[in-house]
Amino acid sequence: MNAQWDAIVIGAGLGGLGAAVTLAGAGKKVLVLEQSTKPGGYAQDFWVNGFRFDVSLHAMDGLAPGGWGDVAIKSLGIAGRLHFERIDPFYRAKLGGATLSAHADSLLLEQELIAKYPREKAGIRRLIDAMLQVFREMRRIREDTRHGPPEGNIAALFPFLVRSMNCTWDEFMSDYIADPELRALFSAEWTYYGLPGGKLSAATMAATWASYHFYGAWYPRGGVGAVVAALVERLNELGGELRCQARVTKIRIRDGIAEGVRLNDGEELSSRVVVSNVSAPQTLLELVDEDALPSGYRKRIQSAESSLSTFNVYLGLNAPPEALSASHELIVCDEPDSNAQYAAIQAGDWDKVPFLAVNYGLVDPSCAPPGQAVITLMTLAPWHYRNVWETGGQLENYGANPAYQQLADRVADRLIDRAEQHIPGLRAAIRERVVSTPLTNHHWTLNHQGAIFGTAQTTDNMYLGRLAPKTWIPNLVLAGAWTTPGGGQTAAMISGIHVGTRVIENLLGEGCAITRPAPIERSLDQPVPPFDLTSVHFGRRLTRESILGRIHVLLFHTRKTAPAAGALNKKLRERFPMAGQVGIANCVAMGNVPGLLRGFVKNLLAKMIRASAASIPPVLDAGDYLVVLPDWGNRATTAFEIAPTQLDSGVVAVVIDREGRIRHRLADASPENLVPMVEWM
Ligand SMILES: Cc1cc2nc3c(=O)[nH]c(=O)nc-3n(C[C@H](O)[C@H](O)[C@H](O)COP(=O)(O)OP(=O)(O)OC[C@H]3O[C@@H](n4cnc5c(N)ncnc54)[C@H](O)[C@@H]3O)c2cc1C
Repeated sequence: MNAQWDAIVIGAGLGGLGAAVTLAGAGKKVLVLEQSTKPGGYAQDFWVNGFRFDVSLHAMDGLAPGGWGDVAIKSLGIAGRLHFERIDPFYRAKLGGATLSAHADSLLLEQELIAKYPREKAGIRRLIDAMLQVFREMRRIREDTRHGPPEGNIAALFPFLVRSMNCTWDEFMSDYIADPELRALFSAEWTYYGLPGGKLSAATMAATWASYHFYGAWYPRGGVGAVVAALVERLNELGGELRCQARVTKIRIRDGIAEGVRLNDGEELSSRVVVSNVSAPQTLLELVDEDALPSGYRKRIQSAESSLSTFNVYLGLNAPPEALSASHELIVCDEPDSNAQYAAIQAGDWDKVPFLAVNYGLVDPSCAPPGQAVITLMTLAPWHYRNVWETGGQLENYGANPAYQQLADRVADRLIDRAEQHIPGLRAAIRERVVSTPLTNHHWTLNHQGAIFGTAQTTDNMYLGRLAPKTWIPNLVLAGAWTTPGGGQTAAMISGIHVGTRVIENLLGEGCAITRPAPIERSLDQPVPPFDLTSVHFGRRLTRESILGRIHVLLFHTRKTAPAAGALNKKLRERFPMAGQVGIANCVAMGNVPGLLRGFVKNLLAKMIRASAASIPPVLDAGDYLVVLPDWGNRATTAFEIAPTQLDSGVVAVVIDREGRIRHRLADASPENLVPMVEWM
């Protein structure tokens, strides 16, 4: 193909710019297309009468030498153009009756917490060490796996990382800390990740916490606009091009391969590779034709839960920053528990939501005229609140809708009243006030439901479980918050760098060929029949209801075909190491075992499973990985329309999607035909 560009990048957010600079740095011809008037996406600022408002950034993590932010900006060649101020204390939290001045330094923070909660001294130390260990293992596994899978058992080699990837933040923390007030303080940062302790991936919380508190919290002089300007300058220097007000309306695909894009004015551009920094729902459900992707893969994107959006009040104030509040960031909530705070956000209970007040002038006086200040009040907010903020989903010209305006003003007033209690004189000092809602976020970036971290960062939806940058279309890749590693500014930039590097290695490097994807298999769409099986030894019940929300592969076999089922298990687990990604269960047809012998057979199986469980590292719950379900009367086997007699000659695999629909039923399943089917769901 004679393409105009090596790579077209759709979207100039930090993920798109990170990818574009990386590609241009390797000598590739790159064009970035941005629908808005300015690059940056959420990493954006705007000016009102001498006040500079940072749309989103409060603090960046990991910018001390050796941190991942530092490595990122150095690899992009922009470190020398930027000056970052270190913020310490990072924030002050007032949660219920508890207060904390959180140092960006983990050891100082540890001392402060021990002084307040001396009885929890050992647990505090162990938890902080565990979080730092998660961070270290995350870095280590990345280095170890640069050129292939790690040798040995991942869970044994990286025990803290694997434990944290398999549990929520609350579960992880409960191994160390009992005091609910202290747990609340340790969770104060949950709004940076968009989910409370009971839902948030522990690895996301622990690794980013470690990055902030070990490598520091930082703010760029000149705001995030300075970072974006440096990236664009670097892109231009390297010969890359950025076009604003260029909205992509189609990714053109021929014979399964992307050949370029179409713009809103009808112009068509061609490229060897397309990198999409725009939301996964827009990329894969709107810009790509439906018949170009397997239905299971599309369904996955359709059904994924988006992360929360935000409600912000940007205030320009006629008072010096020091006279208003003493810390860069204040986190406030009368309700200390993160899960209760999240429930208040979902309900739009603005008296009870947690909010942040960021006083930018303390670290960067250039944000306001001399002697004046900028404070932003921010809370997380849901898209669907009051029928999409009184618009009924009518997004065109929503800002002129009086019902929307009144609602937004009412919420803003409530947040200002609450902030006034902690920042006396705030209301009287207001000179400028700009309000933004989830609809504003969507309007400026087209992110689905105004989500700020891509899809919600749950345990099942992070790391190996998160949507991969690679898509079904071999030369269409994703970069930014909707793919790995996840949401946030540093993470989006890192995603761009990783994707750019992979594109150079696998798609645009010397000798690389772009091969067509396999023909799209027609998949089934059948409901799962009622069934009820209990696993041997661990006693886990599997039913039609219990498997909802996660992909499941049920391997139906007999004792004769157990070795073949074991081999399938192994291959599937090599590709999907976490139970959270794919649940695998062995349904053993036992219809011919007489009732009297069932106890004996069960004991025999339990003995074998206990022996296998010994090889599963203690950080994993063996019950998730050794799921053997005797089907005593062949009832489940028959309910799934499988003849028990066929199972003596081969394993039948039933693949069930997250919504509990059967997508594939493979007689004589083999790793070659089964693994790819699960991969694209
Ligand atoms: C209020 C708020 C506060 C936040 N606070 C922080 C913080 O303190 N620290 C932190 O790390 N993170 C924070 N975040 C989150 C962080 O900003 C985002 O996760 C991150 O910036 C996402 O970057 P991205 O590159 O993935 O995508 P985006 O920033 O979403 O960029 C996508 C780009 O694609 C463009 N685009 C969309 N559709 C098209 C199209 N069809 N054609 C062409 N262009 C298109 C958009 O205009 C946009 O420029 C905050 C976010 C918000 C909104």
